[in-house]
Amino acid sequence: MATMITDECINCGACEPECPNTAIYQGGVEYEALDGTKHPPLSNDFFYIVPEKCTECVGFFDQEACAAVCPVDCCVPDPGRVESEELLAVRAKEIHPDKDFSGELPSRFRKPAAGDGAVAPPVGGATAATAPMAAGAANSRAPMAAPMVRFGKIERKIEPLAAPVARSGPVADALPIEFADALNIVSAGAPVGAGSRLVRLLVCLGQPLLGALPAAAKVRLEEAMGDRRIFSASGATAFNIMLHVLLLPLLAIGFAVLVEGESIYTRGLTAWFFFGMMAAIGEALWRLREAVIFARPVDEVVWRGSIYGVALLPVAMLLASRAGAARRKGEVSVEGFYGQDTAFDDKRERERRYGEIYAFEERPDGWVLRLELPRRIPPSGVRDQLGLGEIMPDYELTVRVLAGALQVHGRVVDERLRVVAATAPAFPPDFTMQVPLRERPLGFVQQYADKLLEIVVLKPSAIDKLPRAADAA
Ligand code: SF4
Ligand code: SF4
Repeated sequence: MATMITDECINCGACEPECPNTAIYQGGVEYEALDGTKHPPLSNDFFYIVPEKCTECVGFFDQEACAAVCPVDCCVPDPGRVESEELLAVRAKEIHPDKDFSGELPSRFRKPAAGDGAVAPPVGGATAATAPMAAGAANSRAPMAAPMVRFGKIERKIEPLAAPVARSGPVADALPIEFADALNIVSAGAPVGAGSRLVRLLVCLGQPLLGALPAAAKVRLEEAMGDRRIFSASGATAFNIMLHVLLLPLLAIGFAVLVEGESIYTRGLTAWFFFGMMAAIGEALWRLREAVIFARPVDEVVWRGSIYGVALLPVAMLLASRAGAARRKGEVSVEGFYGQDTAFDDKRERERRYGEIYAFEERPDGWVLRLELPRRIPPSGVRDQLGLGEIMPDYELTVRVLAGALQVHGRVVDERLRVVAATAPAFPPDFTMQVPLRERPLGFVQQYADKLLEIVVLKPSAIDKLPRAADAA
């Protein structure tokens, strides 16, 4: 069978450079046939394999190289194209007329015994990725190691449901140092983003005013701050409404005295006070109409601003950009989860299933990512029928450090849970989250415990600060 790529492909690009026959192309990119002619792409959406160039790695490796590196296991045998080992060997020789194929060819048709040293695909740094797992075992937190069996240099999980597993990224590998050491290195410097601490203080104190911003601007500011305790669209809107309840009656009285010439000792001011109060309440009802009038759930409420909020937009965007340089979207704190029983928890849990609850911080010598994983299986009849209970098993996690990004792919591996995912709303069986890195990284270290994945990515500037053992390595 030739190998094919299914529509589960996440377009990470890891497989393309591994193919010895350049049979893999990016979706939408035309391919070059064996005779040198160009052809339209076989897929516009995903990476694809040109069948007549694929030898299932016969002649090179004892396993399909693309399948070995694919983080979502979507390089699979094509059942509609069964080909013999002999045919694939002939094709390998045709594609590589200058290569010496004498002797027994490496082939997936002859599976090697574990550890027999047979030829394996050159999976960049795959062995290095085991280092942080070992380091994690020495750590007081739970290690990331999962049962493995070796095929040459390739590691394969043998448990269908296991603790998260990290594989190497194609650009930077896992570093053989303790997580705590890496965290110490990056923690030494202040967050990148001049004045970010001051900015956060200003934003926190300025919530009563910033609550007047339009809803979208508040959401953007909330994401930039990355911590709802500092700024949240809902909290700022509530503060702003309270401010108006205090200010509008006072403004009405001030107008009556200064403009209308009312005496501060007359009873007529009561009417002005009442008018100001009614204006504040009316505005609040209008802004929160989904919640107050239509009784919609909290996550459907639009946190509207006030009429003068548009004038505050330049200030808010400046604050968001300054804060966002150091910290990006997410809510997780160092301590992990909080607000378990709040009205927001269901929404937050749903966002965790999409890999959207994380904190990402840049420091002079590296970056720190903290990503929350779901804790509960969403309620569903199928879940109950299968007797799965409420506790979410660990996802299989793949950490990849690409040229300009840090990527985490999460995958539900329990087949029963994938059935639940297919029937429950807002429960994708896989997610990929990615944050950009502004410079090429040196390597990464990770740890996982209590549904919290923490990754420290070091910059090249950290190389002199690595512990001596890692230096030697
Ligand atoms: S199986 Fe081997 S030859 Fe075929 S596409 Fe994958 S890497 Fe290339
Ligand atoms: S490695 Fe897998 S997910 Fe990544 S591009 Fe290739 S087929 Fe797609």
